[in-house]
Amino acid sequence: MATSTIQFAPNLTQAQENDEHEMLHRWMRLEAEELTSISHIKRFTEYYEADPEFRNNIVISPAQTVAKYNLKIPLEEIRWLWDKEFAKSQQAQGIPFPPSIQRFIDYENAHNQWVDRWRSQMPDSDPRFQSWRDRQMARLDGEISKLMNAQIAHSPVCFELSKGCSVGCWFCGISAPRFSDIFTYTPENAQLWREVLEVVKEIGGPAAGAGFCYWATDPLDNPDYENFVKDFHAILGAIPQTTTAQPMKDPARLRSFLKFSDSKGFAYHRFSILSLKILENVFAEFSPEELIRVGLVLQNKESIMNKAVAGRSLEKQQKAGEFDDNKPVQSTIACVTGFLFNMVERSVKLISPCKADDRWPNGYRVYDRGTFETASDLRVLLERMMTQQMPLGIRSDALLRFRRDLKHENLDDGFKVSTRFLTLKFRHHPLMKELGEIILKGDKTAKEIVAQFEQLGVPTAEINYSLNLMFNRGILDDEPQQG
Ligand code: SF4
Repeated sequence: MATSTIQFAPNLTQAQENDEHEMLHRWMRLEAEELTSISHIKRFTEYYEADPEFRNNIVISPAQTVAKYNLKIPLEEIRWLWDKEFAKSQQAQGIPFPPSIQRFIDYENAHNQWVDRWRSQMPDSDPRFQSWRDRQMARLDGEISKLMNAQIAHSPVCFELSKGCSVGCWFCGISAPRFSDIFTYTPENAQLWREVLEVVKEIGGPAAGAGFCYWATDPLDNPDYENFVKDFHAILGAIPQTTTAQPMKDPARLRSFLKFSDSKGFAYHRFSILSLKILENVFAEFSPEELIRVGLVLQNKESIMNKAVAGRSLEKQQKAGEFDDNKPVQSTIACVTGFLFNMVERSVKLISPCKADDRWPNGYRVYDRGTFETASDLRVLLERMMTQQMPLGIRSDALLRFRRDLKHENLDDGFKVSTRFLTLKFRHHPLMKELGEIILKGDKTAKEIVAQFEQLGVPTAEINYSLNLMFNRGILDDEPQQG
C-alpha cells in the first residue's frame, strides 16, 4: 500500500519522529490475523455501546452472541471486554490483558494520539495565534474540566464547504441550519480554495493539517468534497478527518474515499450513527476490517454514550424544564480554537469552545468575524483579527477582571480563583492579595493598576509579570461582548 510521509512537529526529536512514523505505519501494515482481531474487537465495543440487546446477551450467552454477530473473538477474552470489575480484579492479581486486547488498546491509543498530534504545539505558526490558543485551552480546563477539555482536539481551522446540513439531527450540538447551498469545485472556486489553504498554512504552520472540512455541515452534502480534500492534502500534508452522518447515502462513494485516504497514509474518520437500524445497515455493508480506521459516534437513543448538552439538545432540555446546570455532562461539541470558514459565504469567524449557556448556546464563543473575496483580502482580515484579538501580553488599556465563572477568595499571602473543576492559587508575594482584590472589582486598566503599585514602590516589571502570569493562565476575562 502506498503511503506518503505524515508530517510531525519539527520540534520532536528525530528519534521521537521516527517512532511516531513507525508506529502509524505499523497500524497501516497489519497482518491479516491482526487486522481481523483488532477490527472485530472494535466492532464488539461498538455493538456493546450501541445495542441493549447485545449488552444483555453477551452476559447471558457469550458464545452464542459472538457467533450470532459474526465476531471472531476467542471465548476466553470476551469477559475482559465488557466486565470492567473482572478486568480490574485480574490486573490486581498481576494478570495482564490478553495480547489481542492489549494490541487493540495500543491501536486505539495510537489513533487518539494521531487525532491530537498538534493539540499542544503549533510549530512554525504565528506566535500570536499559538499563545491565544494556549490561553483558550487553559481557560477550558477550569470551565469544563481538564478531563472534558482533554477530549477536545482544538483544531486550529475548519472549513464548511456547504451552507447548512441536510441531516437535521434534533440534538445537533451546534444547531446546524437547514441545508441550502454548496461550494462547488469550479475552476474559480478551486483556485480560491487552494489560495485560502496557503494563507491558513502561513498562519497555522503544519498544525493547519489537523483542520477538517465540515462544521455545521455534512461533508457528503457536497458532491465535490473529495476534490477539496485532495487539495487539502496537497497543501497541508494530511487527509482531514471526515465525519459523516450519512454513511449509507452512497456506500460506493464512501468506500472509494476511504481507499483514497488509505493511499495517503494514516487518517481516522468517523460515521455518526443515528439509529440502530442505520447501525445494522452499516455493519451489513462494511466489514469490520473495512472500518478499522473509521470510528463510530453512536448517537442512537439506545446508546450508552451521553449526548452533549449544547445547541438543539440544550434548547430541548431548557424547554422541557429538564436542564440541570450542576449535572456533569459534556457541554460542548465544538473542537476548533481558531478559524471557522464558510466557503459559500466566504466568511470566517474566530472561535473557541465554551460551556454552552444562554449567551453561547452552541458551545463556542465567536471572538471575531469577517468576509473576504480573495486570498489577499483574507490575509488582511486574518492579520487584523490576530492584531486585535491575540495580543502576546496584556494590553495597557485593557480593563482587567476575572472570568465570570471564577470564584475569587483571599488567602493570607495572595488569592485563589476557582470553578467546581479547578482552583488556581496566586501567592507568595506581599501585594498579590491586593492585586486580586483590584481585579475582582474590575474597574481598572492594566496601566492604572501598574501606576497604583508603582506609587507603593513596586517595580513595573514585577507587576507586569504577575498580570501576565494571570493572563497566560486564562483567568482574565476576554469574553467577546457580541457573538
Ligand atoms: S449533528 Fe452533524 S449531521 Fe446532525 S444536523 Fe448537526 S451538523 Fe448535521
